[in-house]
Amino acid sequence: MSAERAEVKSPWRIPLAAIHMGEEEKAAVLEVLESGWLTLGPRTERFERELGAALGTGHVAAVSSGTAALHLAYLALGLGPGDEVIVPSLTFVATANAALACGASVVLADVVGPHDLCIDPEDIEKKITPRTKAIAVVHYAGFPCDMDRIAAIASRHGLAVVEDAAHAPLATWRGQAVGTLGDFGCFSFFSNKNMTTGEGGAVVTRDADRLANVRLLRSHGVTAQTFQRHQGGALSYDVVLPGYNYRIDEIRSALGLVQLKRLAERNERRRRLSRRYQRTLEGVVGLPFAGGSAAHRVGVCHIMPVILPSGTDRDEVRRNLHGRGIQTSVHYPPIHSLSFHRASDRIRTAGLPKVDDLAARELTLPLYPEMSEADVDEVCAGLRAALGR
Ligand SMILES: *Cc1c(COP(=O)(O)O)cnc(C)c1O
Repeated sequence: MSAERAEVKSPWRIPLAAIHMGEEEKAAVLEVLESGWLTLGPRTERFERELGAALGTGHVAAVSSGTAALHLAYLALGLGPGDEVIVPSLTFVATANAALACGASVVLADVVGPHDLCIDPEDIEKKITPRTKAIAVVHYAGFPCDMDRIAAIASRHGLAVVEDAAHAPLATWRGQAVGTLGDFGCFSFFSNKNMTTGEGGAVVTRDADRLANVRLLRSHGVTAQTFQRHQGGALSYDVVLPGYNYRIDEIRSALGLVQLKRLAERNERRRRLSRRYQRTLEGVVGLPFAGGSAAHRVGVCHIMPVILPSGTDRDEVRRNLHGRGIQTSVHYPPIHSLSFHRASDRIRTAGLPKVDDLAARELTLPLYPEMSEADVDEVCAGLRAALGR
């Protein structure tokens, strides 16, 4: 077997996450390779249509990553120097960095509490200033934020809402897919997400003009795409704004089309495994989103976060579990703990007491659709043993 063909094998008995690529994905990629066209083209357009249909919207632009999606959403809102965006401190750093890349400032907000690690609407309202332009919310672990309260705050203060839905494809709030509720929704198809194209993302917006703007920004601000010129539809092009290259390509879109077909079923499997964790670990550790999904708030269980008892040595627990072949992680080191962001004068880090406590005790356990019930039980038994409970 050549080095190129060697699989990347996991050293873990039970890894934190696992990707699943089947025969259909392989065939879809091969078809692209043989088609004579690799970058953004007809498969991407189909991927955008089908993703839109799954989310209940017609306005989707597929892009190169979730970070690109966030950057494009903030750019399309016109955010720049002097503007403030309220961002949860408990998120992946990209939610904040994309705003910094526009020249805007970031005001960090706290989480709701141990039962809900999403951004706290009450704290959002406290942190609004005359410079605030937008609220970025993250549907943490795949559980929708309280979009009623967030929409009410946004409309009261005239603010835009950007949903970072990287954890939450097909999660719903009152029956509507998250990512379609705010001004912009941003999805990621990075390798560890609920559906993946390796790297990839999507921007969703309700507004056709805004979508046209995102499409321009995605590809150098040019008026005629390479594919249209290839098809003989346009002889030349003009550039109407300074854009980027945030295009996805046909290989990834082909993967996305197959992964999308499996997404609902795989999300359901995640919910089932997550409920088993919740039942087994009740009284042992704190369980954010305990009880799982309610009718008005259906989560997609991207990760399995638990809150360790106060005073627990988290690193010791993690080493113990790693010794048993069980991989763990932490979601996330809060943004205000990161060296650059702590020191930056464009980040406001005041008043984050709940995230300070909870992020220090958060532990993420393995969760992926191919896990068996026995795997979940083994992780729970390992965690009990590591905690001496
Ligand atoms: C993964 C992720 C991103 C970034 O997505 P990429 O596709 O890796 O750029 C942004 N926000 C959150 C919450 C994420 O989990």
